[in-house]
Amino acid sequence: MDLKSLIRDVPDFPQEGILFRDMTPLLQNPKALDFVSQNLVRDVDLSQIDFFAGIESRGFILASHLAATHHKGFLPIRKAGKLPPPTKKISYALEYGTAEIELPLGSGRIMIVDDVLATGGTLQAAIDLSSSAGYKVEAVAVLVNLKFLNKMKFNNKEVFSLVQY
Ligand code: AMP
Repeated sequence: MDLKSLIRDVPDFPQEGILFRDMTPLLQNPKALDFVSQNLVRDVDLSQIDFFAGIESRGFILASHLAATHHKGFLPIRKAGKLPPPTKKISYALEYGTAEIELPLGSGRIMIVDDVLATGGTLQAAIDLSSSAGYKVEAVAVLVNLKFLNKMKFNNKEVFSLVQY
C-alpha cells in the first residue's frame, strides 16, 4: 500500500525550516489505518506484548488502534505534569532546550509506538523511561522514520518503520 501518498508534507510547520509530515489523511482512510496496525507488528511476536505504549499525542492514536486491533492494553507516555501519581519522569535534550515525558509506574511487556522518528531523542527517552518505571520494552516502531536525521537502533537493529525519507 502506498502510505507516502497519504502523508501530507507541510513546509515550515510548526516553525520555519521544519517539513512537517502530517498523517491526518492516513487516519481518515480506514484501509490504510488497518494496514498500518497489521504491518507495524509484522516482525513482532504478539504473545510477548501486554500493552502498546503511545507517545503523546499522535503516538496515542496509533497505539490505541494497535491495542484494539490486537486485543492488547494501552499505556500513555505523556508530556510531564498531566498524569496522576505515581509516575516516573525523564528529561531529554531537544535541538533547543529540554523536554520532559512521564508515564505511570507499572509492569508488563510493552511495544512503544510513535508517528515520526526525527532525531530519536523522544523515542530513546521513552525507552529509557519505560525501563526505569518497571516495564520491559519488547519492541518499538514508528510510522515514519526520517532516516537522514538519526542512526537510531533498538536491540542492534534499525527502528522498524513503514515509511522512510
Ligand atoms: P525527535 O525526538 O527529534 O525524534 O522528534 C520526534 C517527535 O517529534 C515525535 O513525537 C514526532 O511526532 C515529532 N516530530 C519531529 N519531527 C517531525 C516532523 N518532521 N513531522 C512530524 N512530526 C515530527
